[in-house]
Amino acid sequence: MRWSTYFLYTLRDNPSDAEVISHQLLARAGMIDKVAAGIYTYLPLGWRSVEKLQRIVREELNTAGAVELVMPSVAPAELWQESGRWQAYGKELLRIKDRHDREFVFGPTHEEVITDAVRRRVTSYRQLPTNLYQVTTKFRDEIRPRFGLMRGREFIMKDAYSFHASAESLDETYRAMERAYRRVFDRCKLSYTAVEADTGNIGGSESHEFMVLASTGEDAVAACACGYGANVEKAITGPIAPPPAWPAPVPAKPEAVHTPGASSVADVAAFLKLDAAHFIKTMIVETDKEFAVALVRGDDEVNEVKLKNVLDCTHLALASEARIEQLTGGAMGFSGPVGLTGVRVVADPEVMRLAVAATGANRADHHLVGVVPGRDFTPEVVADVRVARIGDPCPRCGAPLDIKRGIEVGHIFKLGIKYSSKMACNYLDEKGLSHPMIMGCYGLGIGRTVAAAVEQNHDEHGIVWPRPLAPFEVELIALNPDVPAVRDAAEKLYADLQAAGVEVFYDDRDERPGVKFNDADLIGFPVRVVVGKKGVELGQAELSLRRDRVKVTAPLADAVAKARELLESA
Ligand code: ATP
Ligand code: MG
Repeated sequence: MRWSTYFLYTLRDNPSDAEVISHQLLARAGMIDKVAAGIYTYLPLGWRSVEKLQRIVREELNTAGAVELVMPSVAPAELWQESGRWQAYGKELLRIKDRHDREFVFGPTHEEVITDAVRRRVTSYRQLPTNLYQVTTKFRDEIRPRFGLMRGREFIMKDAYSFHASAESLDETYRAMERAYRRVFDRCKLSYTAVEADTGNIGGSESHEFMVLASTGEDAVAACACGYGANVEKAITGPIAPPPAWPAPVPAKPEAVHTPGASSVADVAAFLKLDAAHFIKTMIVETDKEFAVALVRGDDEVNEVKLKNVLDCTHLALASEARIEQLTGGAMGFSGPVGLTGVRVVADPEVMRLAVAATGANRADHHLVGVVPGRDFTPEVVADVRVARIGDPCPRCGAPLDIKRGIEVGHIFKLGIKYSSKMACNYLDEKGLSHPMIMGCYGLGIGRTVAAAVEQNHDEHGIVWPRPLAPFEVELIALNPDVPAVRDAAEKLYADLQAAGVEVFYDDRDERPGVKFNDADLIGFPVRVVVGKKGVELGQAELSLRRDRVKVTAPLADAVAKARELLESA
């Protein structure tokens, strides 16, 4: 490909909304173009990377025994009503109407459509298992689209769905898909980890997320040297060090103290000369079923995913100020468990391990000190509802956990019969008895994986593509294309590289050398071959790897072989 006839326009400046490096570099390297918030054009160079990843994904999924199909982006509301997700999915679901006022969704995922296709064809255990996948455009009306391709509203995902007559069969496919995902990310040369993920209310199921480790990741991963890894949403916490001894004699019952203007744990702790860990943090929430109270130690955070599971609800939000006042009789920011009635209280075990504590007094500008859990209040439920943190004991080996940032690029999930039971997707067993099919689903974000590759592979000059995802493998630069000898040598090298099957991008533009070098660094193809006036006089080309930019020279006649040799080490 020749730059002069290609469609490639690099940018000098970062787009103003580009917060993370992959967004900045993909935009500046002329690979993506923002059309609206979270909606992008994949420009020709960007599309080549996307296509390369898609090819790898297809190869590995086919090897795992999955079969490709394509479902429509637009699906009728009825299917979503049948599964219950028309109501449950919320505002991320883009709902549209046709000219007859019929309602449709733009698919954010395709469990309903695939379950419908399978139930109308598969009736017997003999036809199972089956594993189907597609690579298509999804739409999710994300509340905060950002980070370019990483959290778009319109994005490309590979989604697969498997159907089974037994849990063992699902397990077999699940393991095959796990291996396929590992192969995909290995082949992309990404550093990643597969971690246990939350399975929500479905229960008993298994789920893993594939996380590309990067400081800009939106997810937090708890990891241990023993191999345990879990999304912090899921990571099981254990006993941690107690706070320092209570600094005063413990009163026979809690005492109210005036804490004017201080409501955050840090402020009140400073005011009362206590440790944040002496406090009981009280969070009042509203679910689709009830109001409830979560208690964690003052230096911990409530884990909403765990709390949702404990409360067995699908929707959870902070209660309104008015409702908090009504429930506690006191102002927001001063809530505490002592004397609270009429709501379910869920306490984290660390709260119950506090010998003495301080907490809100359910009265404006007041806190209680000398509160003894179990004596002064008794929660209905004691359960792990806090966010795991650095130093928490590993649930497998007890060593202190580390917390790292990760980008979730893939998610595999044992769905069980959540969809098949609601949508009557049944099979007949050997005895002629009908059962709902057991399902698995497997998502992999295409654009997000390409972006994650850039997050992991760049330097101060630009992208350093891992070879398997590089739009082109070699950039050929003619430094003074106006000099006939240079032009001739570059043209010959271009033809020879192509003939040798090398994916070469030829910067034949009439631009200054500095501009060409900067662009080459920004775009980041693995190998660079430079032909200039001085070199041509000596019969030489200059080659380098983008990764280390160490230059070597080779006779023009050997330049193709040298480029291929460098590519092998890229
Ligand atoms: P997240 O928690 O990041 O929103 P999710 O749990 O909603 O992700 P899934 O429904 O499991 O994601 O989707 C499967 C895969 O699709 C994800 O692992 C991710 O790679 C990709 N993906 C999900 N949402 C987006 C998005 N808004 N933009 C780009 N890729 C996405
Ligand atoms: Mg999401």
